[in-house]
Amino acid sequence: MKFFIYTFGCKTNTYESEALSRILSETGRFSEAESYIEADVIIVNSCIVTEESEKKARKLIRRMRRENEKACIVLCGCMPQIKKEKCLDTGADIVCGNTDRTKTLALIEEYFAGEKDPSDRIFDVLPHSPGEGFELLAPKHYRNLTRANLKIEDGCDCFCSYCVIPFARGRVRSMPVDKVFSVAKDLVLSGHREIVLTGINIGAYGKDIGADIYDAVKAVVDAGAERVRLGSVEIDLVSDETIEELAGIPELCPHFHTSLQSGSDRMLKKMLRRYDSAEYRRKIELLRDKFANASVTTDVIVGFPGETEEDFLETVKFVKEVGFFRVHVFPYSRRPGTAADKYPDQIPVEEKKRRVKIIEETTKGLKASFLLSQIGKTVNVLFESEGGIAKGHAENYVEVAVRTDENVKNRLLPVKISGVSGDGETALGVLL
Ligand code: SF4
Repeated sequence: MKFFIYTFGCKTNTYESEALSRILSETGRFSEAESYIEADVIIVNSCIVTEESEKKARKLIRRMRRENEKACIVLCGCMPQIKKEKCLDTGADIVCGNTDRTKTLALIEEYFAGEKDPSDRIFDVLPHSPGEGFELLAPKHYRNLTRANLKIEDGCDCFCSYCVIPFARGRVRSMPVDKVFSVAKDLVLSGHREIVLTGINIGAYGKDIGADIYDAVKAVVDAGAERVRLGSVEIDLVSDETIEELAGIPELCPHFHTSLQSGSDRMLKKMLRRYDSAEYRRKIELLRDKFANASVTTDVIVGFPGETEEDFLETVKFVKEVGFFRVHVFPYSRRPGTAADKYPDQIPVEEKKRRVKIIEETTKGLKASFLLSQIGKTVNVLFESEGGIAKGHAENYVEVAVRTDENVKNRLLPVKISGVSGDGETALGVLL
C-alpha cells in the first residue's frame, strides 16, 4: 500500500512526519507515494497554533476526499488534541493525536482489517498526562540531504496567555542526552552535515532530566555533525552562563530565532511572557557580543487584546532599533481555552491587518541591510543545490548564491561575499 504525508506547522511536526514515514516504511507493507492522488493512506499532520492553520487543514482534507475518494485519511497532530471529536466532521477516517506514533500504524492496520462500513470512523486521541515520558522517534534521513531536524524536546510549561500549545503538547519532556548522540550519529552517517535542534520549547530542554541545551548541542557535535543550529528558542530560558558555554562550541551556528512578540512591556505582561523589552534587548546584545556575525530573527504578534496604538508603536520602534535580520509578524489569533481568549478589548480584524502591514513595511529593508553588512566577509556555505547558480546557507543563515561549474551540493565551502541580489533576498559570492 502507498502512503502520503502532508505536514502543517513547525519543524517539530516535520520531524514527526519523517519519523512516522520511517515507522510505516519499515513494516515493508507501505511505501511512499509521490502524491496524495495515488495514495491508499493519506496522513495529515496538523497544527493548531492559529485559526488559519486549522481552516487550511479542514479545506485540504475536503479536497483530498474529493480527489481520492477511496483513500483512508488520517488526521493526526495537534488539532485533534484540542478539537477532539470535532475533528470527525473533517471527513477523516482516523483521528488520532500527537502521542504514540506507533499507535498510528496500529490504527491504520485496524482500519484495513476485515469488513468495514464506509461510515466507520476511528477516533483515538490519547490526552497528555503529567509525568509522561519523551517519545523516542527517529527519522531515517531527510530527502534533501543537507540539513536535518532533530527533535530533542516536546511540550511547554510556560502557558503564555495567547498560546494553546501547552494544551496540545503537554508538559516539557526531553530526549536523553545519550539518545541525542545516537540519533545525531545516524543522521550524520546518512549524509547530513548540519543538524537543527527542534522542539516545542528547546530553551527548556533538559529541565526534567538534569541537563540543558548545552548538553544537547555538545552531544550532536560529538556525534560528528559539522554544523548545529538551534531551532526557535525562548532566549530568556537560556541563562547567561549557558550562552557563554554555547559560544565556546565553534560548530554552533550564530543564528538565533527568538520570539519577541511585543515591544510594549504592558503587552508582554498581559501575554504572560517572562521578560520585559529591556531584558530581551540585553539578551540579544549578549548573543551578538558572544557570537561573531550573528543574525537574529523574531516573531511579533500584533492586535493582542487591549493593544493600543501607543503599545503598537512601541513594537514598531523596538523592531527598528534591535535590527533583526527578519521579522515574522502575525495578527493575534483567538484560541479557545487560552486566557487571552477571554480578555476584553479584542481588536477588530481590519485593524490587525493594518498593523501587520505596518510592521511588514517597517521591516522590509532589514534583511537587505544585513546582507549588505556581509559584503567582504568570508563565510562557510552548506550548498543545497548543484552547479550553475548554486545556493546554500552560511552559518548565520544568510542565503548565498555562487556561480560554479562544479557540483557543490551538500558540500561545506568557504565563500567570499561580494554583493547582494537585486531583490535583496540573497548574498552573492565567489568560491574560494
Ligand atoms: S513559550 Fe509560550 S508561546 Fe512558546 S509554546 Fe510555550 S506557551 Fe506557547
